[in-house]
Amino acid sequence: MLLRGGVVIDTAPEVVVRREADVLIEDGRIAAVGTGLIADVEAAGVEVIDASERIVLPGFVDTHRHLSQTGLRGIAVDADLGVYFERVLTGYGSRFRPEDVAAGNLTGALECLDAGITTVQDFSHVGTSDAHADAALDALQDSGIRAVFGYGPPPLGGGAVDPVGMRRIMGRATDRIGLAVAAIGPSFAPFETVRADWELADALGVPVVVHISSSAQAVDPISRLRDAGLLRPTTLYVHGNNLPDSEFKLIAESGAAVSVTPTVEARMAMGEPLAGRIRGVGVDVSLGTDVVTTGGGNMFGAMHEVLALGYKTFSAAEVLQLATVGGARALGLTDVGSFAVGNKADVVLLRRTDINLAGGLHDPVGTVVTSAHPGNVDTVLVGGTPVKRDGKLVSTSVSAALDALAESTAYLTASAGI
Ligand SMILES: [Zn+2]
Repeated sequence: MLLRGGVVIDTAPEVVVRREADVLIEDGRIAAVGTGLIADVEAAGVEVIDASERIVLPGFVDTHRHLSQTGLRGIAVDADLGVYFERVLTGYGSRFRPEDVAAGNLTGALECLDAGITTVQDFSHVGTSDAHADAALDALQDSGIRAVFGYGPPPLGGGAVDPVGMRRIMGRATDRIGLAVAAIGPSFAPFETVRADWELADALGVPVVVHISSSAQAVDPISRLRDAGLLRPTTLYVHGNNLPDSEFKLIAESGAAVSVTPTVEARMAMGEPLAGRIRGVGVDVSLGTDVVTTGGGNMFGAMHEVLALGYKTFSAAEVLQLATVGGARALGLTDVGSFAVGNKADVVLLRRTDINLAGGLHDPVGTVVTSAHPGNVDTVLVGGTPVKRDGKLVSTSVSAALDALAESTAYLTASAGI
């Protein structure tokens, strides 16, 4: 497949813009980026996508999202973290049936693809029955998205990850779906639980994803991990707005990354903006959307928030890196997030002729980071396979997914008595 004649933005090792450039895809991977790559496409037998009115960039990587909550969109916008715990996690979380997980995960994954998110880290903690886990994994597989599925216990109560359930789903990893231990972690669980979860991840060779904060359980959760010999480069830490720089320094030294979810962290009053501060102590930063109960589910919004932190905090190019290659690094995915030759062809094409992007070719990177939104996403490829074409999702299950989500929302609302 040849994406021909676009404004191509690559993200690594640095952000570069190539005009009237082609992207050649072979066997689902980037084969070349350049100008006039194939003179006679018919002779070459190549499928061509005309990108002459498109901005072409690597797919976004959302490193923290609770996909199952898609049917609770907007329910906790005016809530801080405590109210979110009470209203969403306690009020609804325990009521999720496997079909609610299925509906939330499928619609949420399709929403991601529609908005150019080609990789998502799904932090799944509603119901740990086999049926719940299978429902989530089936939805991720069916949607066509690339994902790292984090398998964990209900978030309140400090429980351990079920080793039997975790071992059972190991066989469900595919080329597109990876697995992680979604641990409660040292901020909210007793330390023997923490040790068991980390040892499980070590034994299975998978990463840990974990929420962190300075809490009643542990004022200095990262120091505790260090003292126990449990700092790993593969751990992805989420939030941590109230932690001191010294804790983030330990994360940086361990080679691990942090997922910052700027909209939700601000809205739930978790603390001061994190991204600029922790980059200053050497942490690899990535971006997440977290929960649509509270914030929008797309990376354009996350980029707007980080860019708005101010001049010299992050350049537009750096913000774009956080949302793409930074996310890939944070998830340990070495072959997505940029157009390096050999990378998986996860690609987003934006219509640069749309009215909100018009006039924006002076600095296409700045234009994308400030002005673009999901409505500009024309075409999306995951591993070279189109999942959105001509502004429409390719999946045939979109209307069924929406119907199932509506039913799920109605059931959850009635069941919770809210
Ligand atoms: Zn979260």
